Amino acid sequence: MSYIRNNLKDVKNIIKKAALKSNRNPEEIALVAVTKTVGPNEINEAIKAGVKIIGENRVQEMLQKIDKVDKNVSWHMIGHLQTNKVKYALKHFDLIHSLDRYSLAKEINKRAQKEGKIQDTLLQLNITGEKTKYGLKPDEVEDFINGIGQFSFLRLKGLMTIMPYVANTEELRPYFREMKRIFDHLQKANLPKNVEMKYLSMGMTNDFEIAVEEGSNMVRIGTGIFGERNY
Ligand SMILES: *Cc1c(COP(=O)(O)O)cnc(C)c1O
Repeated sequence: MSYIRNNLKDVKNIIKKAALKSNRNPEEIALVAVTKTVGPNEINEAIKAGVKIIGENRVQEMLQKIDKVDKNVSWHMIGHLQTNKVKYALKHFDLIHSLDRYSLAKEINKRAQKEGKIQDTLLQLNITGEKTKYGLKPDEVEDFINGIGQFSFLRLKGLMTIMPYVANTEELRPYFREMKRIFDHLQKANLPKNVEMKYLSMGMTNDFEIAVEEGSNMVRIGTGIFGERNY
């Protein structure tokens, strides 16, 4: 299964190139290995090759695999989170990338308080305005952030977005740039004390080079590491 090691090396090289192009230290860019539909053996192989963060988009799938995977990794939730799965998500995910509605923030806060945990999250933005995508519109962000200021068992650590698949990824550059502008703007704003703009999670296999060039510091790569798969 050395293809995983080779793919990982290629991905890291692209991250490095893009980080240097944007005058940043490549070490500052976190790599989330997206393992949906990938089995525990391949996941463990990726961990041996240096992966530190695993990204899953379904709670159920994470629960089926987590006991078979090496313990010294961090698990991130990157997919749409149903309110009735929050309980399980809290137990295992260090970061939830997909906070996309107030009712979810409320439920996370309530469950986290019960568990005695402070749950880290990212706010998902629908930056392209596609009807089929989850996430807040940019003009809803400030009110949302102020609204969750009261949730002391939830911490907001940054922003996340998912771009559509396009053949010409240059078309996405303005959207990545807009995400970075919002991120920077919020960083300078007077935020509630449970909110901090630390992570900007954007970039997948198709578009992560451009995402990093435009300021992403957390990329989520599945196909680029594990190869094509069927959904
Ligand atoms: C599947 C998925 C990814 C990774 O996609 P690839 O194109 O396989 O790199 C990243 N983010 C989210 C939210 C995903 O669901």
